[in-house]
Amino acid sequence: MSKLGEIFGSNVFNDSVMRERLPKATYKALKKTIDEGLALDPAVAEVVAGAMKDWAIEKGVTHFTHWFQPMTGITAEKHDSFISPTGDGKVILEFSGKELIKGEPDASSFPSGGLRATFEARGYTAWDCTSPAFIKDGSLCIPTAFCSYTGEALDKKTPLLRSMEALSKQALRVLRVLGNTTTSRVITTVGPEQEYFIVDKKLYDLRKDLIFTGRTLFGAKPPKGQELEDHYFGSLKERISAYMKEVDEELWKLGISAKTKHNEVAPAQHELAPIFTTTNIATDHNQLTMEVMKKVALRHGLVCLLHEKPFAGINGSGKHNNWSMGTDDGVNLLEPGHTPHENEQFLVFLTAVIKAVDEYADLLRVSAANPGNDHRLGANEAPPAIVSIFLGEQLQDILEQIENGGATSSKSGSLMKIGVSTLPALPKDATDRNRTSPFAFTGNKFEFRMVPSSSSIAQANFTLNTIVAETLSEIADRLEKAADVNEEVQKILFEIVKNHKRVIFNGNGYSEEWVAEAEKRGLPNIKTTVESIKALIDEKNLKVMEKHGVLSRVEMQSRYEISLEHYIKTINIEALTALNIAKKQILPAVIKFATSLAASINTIKATGIDADVSAQAELLTEVSALTASLKKNIAVLEESVEKAASLHGDTYEQAAFYRFDVFEKMGALRADADKLETLVDKEVWPFPTYEDLLFSV
Ligand code: ADP
Ligand code: MG
Repeated sequence: MSKLGEIFGSNVFNDSVMRERLPKATYKALKKTIDEGLALDPAVAEVVAGAMKDWAIEKGVTHFTHWFQPMTGITAEKHDSFISPTGDGKVILEFSGKELIKGEPDASSFPSGGLRATFEARGYTAWDCTSPAFIKDGSLCIPTAFCSYTGEALDKKTPLLRSMEALSKQALRVLRVLGNTTTSRVITTVGPEQEYFIVDKKLYDLRKDLIFTGRTLFGAKPPKGQELEDHYFGSLKERISAYMKEVDEELWKLGISAKTKHNEVAPAQHELAPIFTTTNIATDHNQLTMEVMKKVALRHGLVCLLHEKPFAGINGSGKHNNWSMGTDDGVNLLEPGHTPHENEQFLVFLTAVIKAVDEYADLLRVSAANPGNDHRLGANEAPPAIVSIFLGEQLQDILEQIENGGATSSKSGSLMKIGVSTLPALPKDATDRNRTSPFAFTGNKFEFRMVPSSSSIAQANFTLNTIVAETLSEIADRLEKAADVNEEVQKILFEIVKNHKRVIFNGNGYSEEWVAEAEKRGLPNIKTTVESIKALIDEKNLKVMEKHGVLSRVEMQSRYEISLEHYIKTINIEALTALNIAKKQILPAVIKFATSLAASINTIKATGIDADVSAQAELLTEVSALTASLKKNIAVLEESVEKAASLHGDTYEQAAFYRFDVFEKMGALRADADKLETLVDKEVWPFPTYEDLLFSV
């Protein structure tokens, strides 16, 4: 076997391991649970636990842990050893079905947004057998869902699993009326492209802002940024390439099919994309990918930055969430085929997505909101904060035909001639690329491009699944009652195109004109995270989540609180860090520099030579004025942070104060510091600059 063949999935209790190690009946029963979403039999769990334990121990594993994704956005684990004392001073290694199925971590330290009163600290983790167990750092990790004593979801996985069931149910109803009798499940698939930055660990350690907040809070523009566009797809530097190679190998062991890697637009920025898989597994894998990327970087003396905007003025990082729906018998429901105008099924699923995105744009917006992403969305480097859909020429044309009475033709993708006879003529894609669209149709899937690089992709996907489940259910309601299904399909397509074409935009999403045009069309432009969070308690959104059993009203309310609190805490940490750096590092450094200028003037004058000291004098005046302004802005920010902290009561008001007061004042402080950086001697600047960070690896 090839090396890759040997290591791929070697740390995963996957299908082939199960087939090999489980008794036939157990394997069949477990497969049925996984493939058909049936309830799990405890007797089956007992046998699986035994096989898992034996497999893990053979690989040198001593501990097991339930691995879950609380609302902190990172993964959590609590390790227990397999050891069980036998009474004669010896131990045996045990792992029961009960331990596999259920865990009871103390939940009191995880955010619950008021769901769980502090006296009720119990939380439960439940085995998600649809995502395979794996070995990481000598522990057997069991993917689990995390909920409260009363059954409310305290994590990101539970609503995702619920939404996958909801979408499958509604999609099946539509498929049945359209004559499909074979499909038994519809699965949403995801391939997330992950962007990240790599910096040298030695330099990172000298930047408190990177350590505490993940982004630089100060830093003047380097003389060279990304303007030459010489980094994008550029050849990989040796150190980076060694790093990427090890990341790939670690991911392959975990059964994660890391496939493409390349340099991104910004200096020191890169991207990793896996081959798509089931949403649930893709989400788990993306969490693991981020963890592996960070860990492996340290082994190479590097640090992996996943923050959405580590460097001002340089493109930040996002996650392109490629999403589609497929049947268990292998049909991609968003595959248009050669003649999409005749492909009724495709058009129904396509328009269901269009309607969902238009009606629930606010829910999608908040699913891509986090404090870091506020620096990107709408800043002409990432999609605007306006949710719109790019369809491309061919589909646009078909929708226009539908609106004008019925689609009768599909513009075909022609052959693209490169003009060199030795190069092959390439078939042209039916859709060109549009990098400026937040939600782009890319051939047989949609690419949701607003998702933040550091976040779990769970919310983006459970939102997508739920809102599309809703529009599919509305379509199914009508089709099931229709006397003539085909006629009703045409009516539905016509209505959706007419009522929701406003959300389709094929032009440049970065342009000023689009902002004005979108406003005319009545599309929401929700600029900040804080404002977007309101969507979580909007009546229409509460209803859709409740109707499809994805999140109850109480669960939505708790997520609203948690999101606001997370915003507040993040900005508070940033502000305190900025103050600390400004007071303890920048201010002393610039005073030292000013003193040296003054000393220089005095020394020269003392010689009695009539030399021109105007350069020193002018610089001293300029530096002193900026230093005074810096000192003043420190006081202003301090006052703002104090006031913000005192604003208890309404969480929304407090978060809004952090955004529109504290955050703005951090900007003013930074402006002074960044100007000072360009004036003072590099030797006295107290930490590595953008130049050092971006161009040293
Ligand atoms: P690009 O950078 O051109 O957008 P990449 O090849 O880097 O493209 O990433 C495309 C991603 O989309 C990959 O992760 C790929 O596996 C994924 N993808 C392809 N088909 C589907 C599908 N049917 N459902 C979900 N994701 C898909
Ligand atoms: Mg992409």
